[in-house]
Amino acid sequence: MGDIHQLFWPKSVAVIGASTKELSIGNRIIRNLQDFGYKGKIFAINPKGEEVRGLKPYASILEVEEDVELAHIVIPNKYTPMAVDDCGKKGVKMVIINSAGFKEVGGDGEELEKAIVEKAKEHGIRLFGPNCQGVINSDPQINAYCNFTFTKPTPGNISIVAQSGGVGEVINQRFSELGIGVRMYASNGNACDISINEVMEYWRDDDQTKVIVLYLEGLSDPDDFMRVAREVAARKPILGMKAGRTAEGAKAASSHTGGLAKEEMATELIMEKCGIVTFRDEEEMVQAAAAFATQPIPKGNRVGIITNTGGPAIIATDEFIEAGLEMPPLSDGARSKLKESLYSAASINNPIDVLATANATHFRAAVDTLMDEDQIDSVYINFVTPFFVDNESIARELVEVNKQQKKPIICNLMTDKKEWAGTINILTEGGIPCYSFPETAARSLVAMSRYNDLRSRDLGKVKTFDVDKAAAESILAQARESGRSNLSAAEVYGILDAYGIPVAPWKVVGSAQDAVSAAENIGYPVVVKADSEKIVHKSDVGGVAVNLVDADAVRSAVDGMQERFETDGLSFLVQKFMPGGKEVIVGAKSEGDLGHMLMFGMGGTLVELIKDVSWKVAPLSDHEAGEMMRSLKQYPVLEGYRGDEGVKVDAVLETIQRASQLVTDLPAIAEMDLNPVMAFPDGAHAVDARISI
Ligand code: ADP
Ligand code: MG
Repeated sequence: MGDIHQLFWPKSVAVIGASTKELSIGNRIIRNLQDFGYKGKIFAINPKGEEVRGLKPYASILEVEEDVELAHIVIPNKYTPMAVDDCGKKGVKMVIINSAGFKEVGGDGEELEKAIVEKAKEHGIRLFGPNCQGVINSDPQINAYCNFTFTKPTPGNISIVAQSGGVGEVINQRFSELGIGVRMYASNGNACDISINEVMEYWRDDDQTKVIVLYLEGLSDPDDFMRVAREVAARKPILGMKAGRTAEGAKAASSHTGGLAKEEMATELIMEKCGIVTFRDEEEMVQAAAAFATQPIPKGNRVGIITNTGGPAIIATDEFIEAGLEMPPLSDGARSKLKESLYSAASINNPIDVLATANATHFRAAVDTLMDEDQIDSVYINFVTPFFVDNESIARELVEVNKQQKKPIICNLMTDKKEWAGTINILTEGGIPCYSFPETAARSLVAMSRYNDLRSRDLGKVKTFDVDKAAAESILAQARESGRSNLSAAEVYGILDAYGIPVAPWKVVGSAQDAVSAAENIGYPVVVKADSEKIVHKSDVGGVAVNLVDADAVRSAVDGMQERFETDGLSFLVQKFMPGGKEVIVGAKSEGDLGHMLMFGMGGTLVELIKDVSWKVAPLSDHEAGEMMRSLKQYPVLEGYRGDEGVKVDAVLETIQRASQLVTDLPAIAEMDLNPVMAFPDGAHAVDARISI
C-alpha cells in the first residue's frame, strides 16, 4: 500500500489538544473514536493534566510511552509548528491538522502554513489539512473515526473525498439516511500536503472501495489530477461534482478554502476527459452512487423495463430515451418465452408489463428473460406492492437473480415504507438499489451507462501537424513587445498560416489605392474589413463590406470606413469573398493552469444567440474533435441534410485539430476566435479571426 496507508489504518491515535470541554474538537474526536469502536489506542495530550473522556492525560506527545501512528493537532494555529516538531521528535509519521487559521485567512496564516509544511518535511511527516475535518475508515477491523463530525457510517463500498468538509458531511449523512454503507471518508481542507489525488490513488488499490464520490472546489495541480483520475477511473467509477459554476460561485469558493477555484466548466471538462462521471446535483450523485456500489457496470446502453404498473414506466422511458439510452424491442425467442410464462393480458414488449396481479413466478420469468436477452444490457424494474399478492416472495426472487451480478438491476419501489418494511428489507439487504421515484432510479442507471461509455470509449490520438511554431512565436513576441493584447489582422492571419489553417486569401493595406491593387491580385469579388484594435465586432459598426465586384466598389468601401472610424492606425483587410459556405466557429480560451478549452460550433453572427457549441480540453485527439462535431444539434447540416450536400467534414476536423495544436503550443494565447470558418463541400477557410494574448 502507498505512503498514506497509516492515515486510514492508524494503530494508535494521539490528540494534541485533547479537551474536557464537550463542545470542543479536542473532545469530539476522542468521543468519535470511542463511540465508533476504534480498535487502536487513543492518547490524550493535555498539558493541564486533566483526564479526558476517561483517558490518562499526557503533558506532551513526547511523554507517550508507546508508538503513535497518527496525531491530530487541534490547538490554536500559532502553536502548530511546535506541535508538528514534537510529533517529529516522537517519530509520528502522519498528522491531521484540524485547526484553522492558515492559507484560507491569508497573511500570517499563509506563513504559518509554510512553516508547518517545512517542519513536516524535516521530519518526514505527511500532513493532512490544515483547516480540515479529517478521515473515517469504517472497516470493522479498525473503526477509525479521525474526524470531528457526527455521522457514523455503516460499512459499505462507497468512499467519499471532499475538499469542503461541509459538503462531504452532507453527502455522508445522506448515505446514512438512505441506509447505504460508506467505506472511507476524507476531507482535507487546505490540502497543504496530502492531496485529493493521492487519496484517490490510495483507494484505487482498496478492493472494498467500489465507487469513489468526489467533490471539488478547485484544481491545484491539474496535470497530476488528470494522470491520477484517468488511472483510477479506468479501474473503478469516480462520480464527481465541482462547485463554483458561476463567476459568483467561484469567488465564494476561493475565499472559502483558499483553493484555486476556476470556472467550473473547465474543471468539469477535465473530469470528463479523465473518465469521471460528472454531476451537478448532490442528491443525484448520491443516488447514483448507491447503484454503483452494488451493481455491475452495464456493458451497453440498452435497457429492458419490467413493470407492474403503467405510468412510472412511461416516465422512466422518457428519462432513458432523453439521455440517449435505447429500449430495443425483445427478440422473438424472448417474446414467446414471456407469452408462455406471463398472464395472457400481460404486455410482452419492452417495457414488459407483468400486470399488478403478477406473482413471484411471473416476475422471475420476466427478469430471467431479460438476463438472457443478448440485446439488453441492464434491467429497470417498477415494483408497486399491491396488497393482493405476496410481495416478499417477489422480492426474494429478484434478489436471487441479483446474486448472479450478470446485468445491473435497478428498482423503483413504489410502496408504503411502513406497511411493506419486510419487502424493502429483503430487496436492500439483497443488494438491489431501491428508489422512490422513476426519475431517480432511471438517472442512476443512466449514470452507470455513462460510466460504461466513458470507460470503453476509444480516446483516439492527438495528431501532430507539421507547423512553423517559431514563426508564430515571433509574431506573438512582437505583439507583446509593443504592448498590445489584441493582435492585428496581419498578425492573426500570419499565425494561422504558420499552423496550416486555411484562410481566405488576404492582404492588409493602408489606402484605397492599395486596396484596389490587392483586390486585383486576389481576384474579384472581394470583401473589405476595417482592421483596428478598437473594433471587435466589425459588422455591427459597418466595418465589413462584402461582395465588392470592382475597383469602384472597393474604393468607396474604404472611403466610407475611413470616414466612419477616425481612429489612429486604421488599416484595411482585403479578402477573397467566399459566399455560400456554412459558417462554423472554432474557438479557444485559456484557463490558466488548466490549459486551453476548445470550442466548436455553428458560427457566424448568431453564435451567441443559438449557442449550438461544444467544449473540450486541449489537446484534442482526433476522436474528441469528431465527438465535438457530432454533439452539435446542427451536425446533420454539416453532414448534409435534406438534399443539401453538406460540407467537407474532414477539412473542418483538421482545422479544429490544428487550432488545438496552435493553442497548446502557444500558451500565451488568452483567446482565439475563428468565426466564421466558411465550410464548403470541398474545404474550409477561416474568413474572420481574432487572437488576444
Ligand atoms: P465580425 O465578426 O467582426 O462582425 P466578420 O469578418 O466575421 O466580422 O464578418 C461578418 C460576416 O460577414 C461573417 O459572419 C460572414 O457571414 C460574412 N463574411 C465576412 N467575410 C467574408 C468572406 N470573406 N466571404 C464571405 N462572407 C464573409
Ligand atoms: Mg466574425
